[in-house]
Amino acid sequence: AKKAAPRASKARPDRQPPALSSPTKILYADIRATKQDVWNYYTAVMDHLLPEVQGRPVSIIRCPSGTDKPCFFQKHLTAGLELVSTQRLKEESGINADYLVIEDTAGLLELVQFNALEFHPWGAHADTPDTADRVIFDLDPGPGVPFTEVKAAATHIRRLLLQAELESFLRVSGGKGLHVVVPLNPGCDWDLTKRFAQGFAQALAESEPDRFVATATKAKRNKRIFVDYLRNGRGATAVASYSLRARPRAPVAMPIAWSALSNLERPDPYTIKDVPAMLKRRRKDPWADIDKLKQNLARWSSP
Ligand code: ATP
Ligand code: MN
Ligand code: MN
Repeated sequence: AKKAAPRASKARPDRQPPALSSPTKILYADIRATKQDVWNYYTAVMDHLLPEVQGRPVSIIRCPSGTDKPCFFQKHLTAGLELVSTQRLKEESGINADYLVIEDTAGLLELVQFNALEFHPWGAHADTPDTADRVIFDLDPGPGVPFTEVKAAATHIRRLLLQAELESFLRVSGGKGLHVVVPLNPGCDWDLTKRFAQGFAQALAESEPDRFVATATKAKRNKRIFVDYLRNGRGATAVASYSLRARPRAPVAMPIAWSALSNLERPDPYTIKDVPAMLKRRRKDPWADIDKLKQNLARWSSP
């Protein structure tokens, strides 16, 4: 595959990150992880996380009193944020809203200072919000689905995508499932991207109805894997690689190599405690080529 030109960045590396308040506040009670621990985690993974969120509208999950107390999914700018950029975008309702955009370390850490635990970017950049550059197949196992079947599903989807000449990348969500991510370069409008993802998921569900469902209806999910194509729309988000999850043990959404899938025992093996050290000894980023590939959905556009 050919290499793509890098995007212009609005990062200002000279900016000082904000001060951290309440560093001893416990955010993950089960492992007694403090706000300082979360800050240290994000500082340690910054070089890996930042490229995943930089320049994209991003939603965050904030847990001001820890994961045991109510947390909030936040999409828009709120008072007090000064280091985070914003992009005014038209919502589906037709109303304009100011979306959060992280440009640099200072912006990301300001959100941590505001008790953000999770980061969820769009599959598009803020300056080109109508152009999708990542398709995400979010594999959500229903009750009673063993993880081995989720792994088999991911491998199956990878193979089908390769038949369509699309390379894909794998991530453990840090929750219950796996994400199969297809980079698009050049990007594609949301209409075609959505049709492609939905068509792909529906074809899968029709060919193997015992394994897959492509509808969000809960009743049909028992013992099946929901191929959640709904991550693929303007304004939809998926958790960023290297983001913590606001769940017990503070698991991390981690990119993994396809070759590592067979030995994977669960979708949440990586946590706040081991990821920084793991990244130090990791020899190769399994997603190193994700923004270098040149592949797109042109052949799927209507004849
Ligand atoms: P799991 O593997 O447990 O499914 P996940 O990150 O894939 O973890 P999902 O429940 O499948 O979680 O959700 C997919 C995405 O939907 C989330 O990553 C997030 O970006 C988005 N999302 C979650 N909560 C909200 C919300 N309240 N409003 C809008 N989007 C949300
Ligand atoms: Mn999911
Ligand atoms: Mn989902």
